[in-house]
Amino acid sequence: MGHASSRSALALTLIDSKRTAQDLLQEAERADFYLEECRDDAINALARRRLAYSANSITPAESITYQAHLNQMIPLLPLRLQLDLGDIRIVPLMPSADGGMPHTRPGNVVCYPILSQLHSKSTLTHELWHVHQRTFQEEWQSLFEQLGWTPWNGVLPPLMEKNRRFNPDTIDHPLWVYQNTWVPVPIFNDSATPLLHEVSIWWYHCIEKYHVKQIPTAIQNQFPGMPPSSYEHPRELTAYLLADAAEHRNNPALRTILTILGQDAIS
Ligand SMILES: [Zn+2]
Repeated sequence: MGHASSRSALALTLIDSKRTAQDLLQEAERADFYLEECRDDAINALARRRLAYSANSITPAESITYQAHLNQMIPLLPLRLQLDLGDIRIVPLMPSADGGMPHTRPGNVVCYPILSQLHSKSTLTHELWHVHQRTFQEEWQSLFEQLGWTPWNGVLPPLMEKNRRFNPDTIDHPLWVYQNTWVPVPIFNDSATPLLHEVSIWWYHCIEKYHVKQIPTAIQNQFPGMPPSSYEHPRELTAYLLADAAEHRNNPALRTILTILGQDAIS
């Protein structure tokens, strides 16, 4: 065992019992009401009508292979995640769940609809930063504020409110405002046939009450070259920056984040 792993508190446990996985999902639902909120919202229900959100069973061989892989990944993850996080449960979901996208739920749960996605260190790192954001909410709120973001409790125009896509990683506080001006909102591209993957970020100017579909210059300057969907929320921007830090070495926001979190957030 290496130096880092001997100090690590992080354990990644693949849940290979469908029953246990289903119990963890039920517990998560009691905490965040994610599926209930999706069911109660017309466009989010429509976008998920053919998707099965439930635990999937895995074979004993898959369990052994992927658990060994997860154990090998731990010493390769940023030290900060190894030290700050504890027991993380990796829950296999049906392949269509949430459009096949990995995500987190309350209770230190990371959901993987497609097991082979576990091979991506970048994806695992991204998801673990979401767990970190859930665990250390106050620290993250202060970090987001230093990056110009604050929670927004205003009301969106009806068209935007009606067509926004819910995200399990942000469902507890979906709307944030950048520099007290711009509120990013993921909007389904096709309101008649909404698809989870097909959204665009609209930017609502909350003072003058209009929206644009292009990334405002101030945000583009601070967070250049990020994946389009990452702009929906500061949790997504920061998770992408930290998970793919080498790619974003010169990103001004990443430099700010590292002065706060320290270099061991990426090494
Ligand atoms: Zn994410």
